[in-house]
Amino acid sequence: MSVKALKGFKDILPDEVEIWQRIERIARDIFHRFGFSEIKVPILEKTDLFVRSIGEATDIVEKEMYTFTDRNGASITMRPEGTASVLRSFVEHGLHVRQPVQRLYTIGPMFRHERPQKGRLRQFHQLSCEVLGSDLPRLDAEVMAMAWLILKELGLSISLEMNSLGCPACRPAFKKTLIAFLQGHAGQLCEDCERRRETNPLRVLDCKSANCQEKYKNAPSILDHLCEGCGDHFQAVKQGLDVLNIPYSVNSFMVRGLDYYTRTTFELITDALGAQSAVGAGGRYDGLVKQLGGPDLPGIGFGMGIERLALLLRQSGQEAALPGIDLFVAALGEAAQETGYTLTNTLRTKGLKAAMDLEGRSLKSQMKQAGKSGARFALIIGDDELAKGEGVLRDMTTREQETIALKQDTAALAASLAERIQSQ
Ligand code: ATP
Ligand code: MG
Repeated sequence: MSVKALKGFKDILPDEVEIWQRIERIARDIFHRFGFSEIKVPILEKTDLFVRSIGEATDIVEKEMYTFTDRNGASITMRPEGTASVLRSFVEHGLHVRQPVQRLYTIGPMFRHERPQKGRLRQFHQLSCEVLGSDLPRLDAEVMAMAWLILKELGLSISLEMNSLGCPACRPAFKKTLIAFLQGHAGQLCEDCERRRETNPLRVLDCKSANCQEKYKNAPSILDHLCEGCGDHFQAVKQGLDVLNIPYSVNSFMVRGLDYYTRTTFELITDALGAQSAVGAGGRYDGLVKQLGGPDLPGIGFGMGIERLALLLRQSGQEAALPGIDLFVAALGEAAQETGYTLTNTLRTKGLKAAMDLEGRSLKSQMKQAGKSGARFALIIGDDELAKGEGVLRDMTTREQETIALKQDTAALAASLAERIQSQ
């Protein structure tokens, strides 16, 4: 019996990888334009890191983490998100000492034991970034503008929703007001909301149930309960988005599934992925570095799901083709095969994507292969041509052919072919 991949764990096959590489290339380029440096952190961390940062009463910690005991009896978790690990590393290596404001990004797999469906996997991948050391509202707007640009350059149209979740000074009072409001609807809410009413009341607001949403129509709004500092910050973030011409809407019901958020939170939403409507999300987490044992530094970041971006790109018909090759060497006969073999390798050292058939098939079948491989050119060498010291270079698009002198050493021939092809 053959072994299959685990449920919710997906192979990314070569024809899909092209889209992934494009997403990563564009994202990296934009991260660099905004002054971010890449950081790579481990996939496994002590469980405590996530419990302390994400929060005990969250879906992730309560039921989604891949946690196990290692051979030494320590509790280990496969990271469900990136921020906690990056901050752990930031604190551990005292990165704040090197630069007062750090801009970091990372790309890699995350693990959550959820019910797999379209756009929802158990191993998924995120592009994520963090800025540590500044609480300026202009930074929040800049980070959202960066997320916006990534989506724009990918050719995706997505809406930005934002909110403020207040801070430890104003949120507790709002929570109390909300709990009292929810008390008035006790017994009328869905199972999740009934449970969260007391443990994590903010979470009820983004419940998907139409019945619950109907009840929350008159729920108190966090935006009416912000303290002066948070209110001013929120206004300034909106003003920053306005001057940068980033369209957004305020959604006062948007909370996030992680406890560490303060003030600005945002989501990048699409209506093209059914229930999996968020392609990215993020926000400010001003107390988190300190909570993880570091200095009292503010921070902000976001994560984008690569699987969801790839789905959207495919849905919008942006099928990326496999990278075509530059030159296919079609060699017929033993001597021609020998020449072709060294020539192909030398062409690769000159920077060309070159291929040849090692099986010694017929010319017809080699030309078929050349066509399939998307080659721009084919160099046809038969033993007869070789004897005359000639090969035929065919432009696979225009079908024009020209004779190429083969009587030079391989390096010189490869160099002149490379020059000829790269100039096209
Ligand atoms: P959702 O509401 O869809 O569960 P989330 O709020 O749990 O998303 P975050 O923790 O904010 O998501 O992660 C940021 C992004 O990572 C999401 O917007 C999404 O694109 C992606 N993501 C999160 N969980 C998954 C998953 N299980 N499979 C694929 N992508 C995911
Ligand atoms: Mg989730």
